[in-house]
Amino acid sequence: MSDARILVADDDPAIRAAVSWLLKEQGYDVVAVTRGESVYAELEEQPADLVLLDVDVPEDDGLTVLKRLRGNERWRDLPVMMVSAGDEEDLAARALRAGAADFMAKPFRLRELLARIQSQLRSRDTLRRAYAALREVSEALVESREEAKSRRELVDILHEVTGELSPEEIFRILARRVARALDISRCSVILARPGDELGVVATAFDNPGLRNFPIRLDRYPEIRAALEHGAPVLVEEGAANPLYGEIRKVWEAEGLTVPVSSAIALPFTLDRTQLGVFFLRTSGSEPPLSHHDIEFADTVIRAAVAAIQRAQLLETTRADKARLEALATTDAVTTLLNRRALVDRLLHEMERARRYATPLALLMVDLDHFKDINDTHGHLVGDEALREVARLLQSGVRNVDIVARYGGEEFAIVLPETSNEGAVAFAERVRERVAEHVFANERLPSLRLTVSVGVASVPAADIESVEDFFARSDEALYRAKAGGRNQVRA
Ligand code: GH3
Ligand code: MG
Ligand code: MG
Repeated sequence: MSDARILVADDDPAIRAAVSWLLKEQGYDVVAVTRGESVYAELEEQPADLVLLDVDVPEDDGLTVLKRLRGNERWRDLPVMMVSAGDEEDLAARALRAGAADFMAKPFRLRELLARIQSQLRSRDTLRRAYAALREVSEALVESREEAKSRRELVDILHEVTGELSPEEIFRILARRVARALDISRCSVILARPGDELGVVATAFDNPGLRNFPIRLDRYPEIRAALEHGAPVLVEEGAANPLYGEIRKVWEAEGLTVPVSSAIALPFTLDRTQLGVFFLRTSGSEPPLSHHDIEFADTVIRAAVAAIQRAQLLETTRADKARLEALATTDAVTTLLNRRALVDRLLHEMERARRYATPLALLMVDLDHFKDINDTHGHLVGDEALREVARLLQSGVRNVDIVARYGGEEFAIVLPETSNEGAVAFAERVRERVAEHVFANERLPSLRLTVSVGVASVPAADIESVEDFFARSDEALYRAKAGGRNQVRA
């Protein structure tokens, strides 16, 4: 406390001298003025911690000075101790009401004056600490508000990014969001690996036309450095940065002024092979980028990269699942549904037919004397013939119908909402089409084939289950074979 500065305003030279001496003895820094008006000028010059003010100073008298100090934002909390030799009644009360910290009547005892000054300075100190604490709290509040804001932005960004987007779209969104969050105009994603001479612009917030544009990395030392060290690079001093030492010569030679004021190059790894850099740059009046911005951008990018990886994984898994499912339900030779899938679908159709009381037909189509084809032309030709029959059958049905390979040279056709009569007519058309068709292509000599078709349909008293349905249509097929083949039986 002893280095506090005290301003004494008194026109009595004896008091000025005594008080100054006493306070200086105590280690205070003392300035003395004789006129009220000088108080303002002195405070402007150097702020004081306390003013000892005589009510009777000439020009602006003590009370006027006090009121002016109280009315000024800067001096409002400055303790002012009033002293007076006057015997005017009520003076102390008026001074205290006007905002004086204390009042002493002259003549005063120096020891008491000193104690009162010390007490005032202690109060002022407490007040200052309270203000400092308050400032800290409000700063912390602003900071946490900012933090919350950036966290909220992060959540927004992730929300946007974690949808089912391609990496290109994710990069585009990220560049836009990072640029907006940091209030900078330039943010791009460059795909490149350490040691590469060229990088490719995956996205550029400020110039969408640059997408897929190749850039020479020797012109971007920050990007190169980030790639090489696998760590963020912050350029704070703009073009004067030593990192730009070499390239600056090129800029100069080419007569370029590169208006970089700060830049961040943030490397990221997408998978083990793909490396890229988020490149942020400010110029002109934009506030320069700082370490804090690196942190923010890094968090955003890391989270986004994780999202991209998750999306890719999901895509692969989904594709694998779809492929496996397709494999599990498809016949490899003809690509028609296999028997397993047929059974599932037939069960489903039977339930539907029962629920909605609609008819449903099942055709068993068996190639006649197919063994002979294999025997004459070999199995490969036989396979090709099976594929050709499959195509023919598939091309002759409605969307709702189901064509499947039941096994060997036997096919099944499910006809929803088709009566027995309609199914027989349809079977007849199938039989004719096969019989009329010349099976021929580059892998197939011209062959003629015929089929026998067995038809069954529900509702039927003797068909309860899928097995019953197959059995009844099989029996019909047997009758068609027995009847001489190339015919339909129901
Ligand atoms: P049917 O008129 O009585 O039906 O005479 P078929 O020769 O067609 O009947 P069979 O049941 O005696 O013989 C079926 C033949 O179908 C036996 C086999 O050579 C042939 N086959 C079954 N599956 C395949 C296949 O996947 N590829 C080829 N190339 N031939 C097959
Ligand atoms: Mg056969
Ligand atoms: Mg057969």
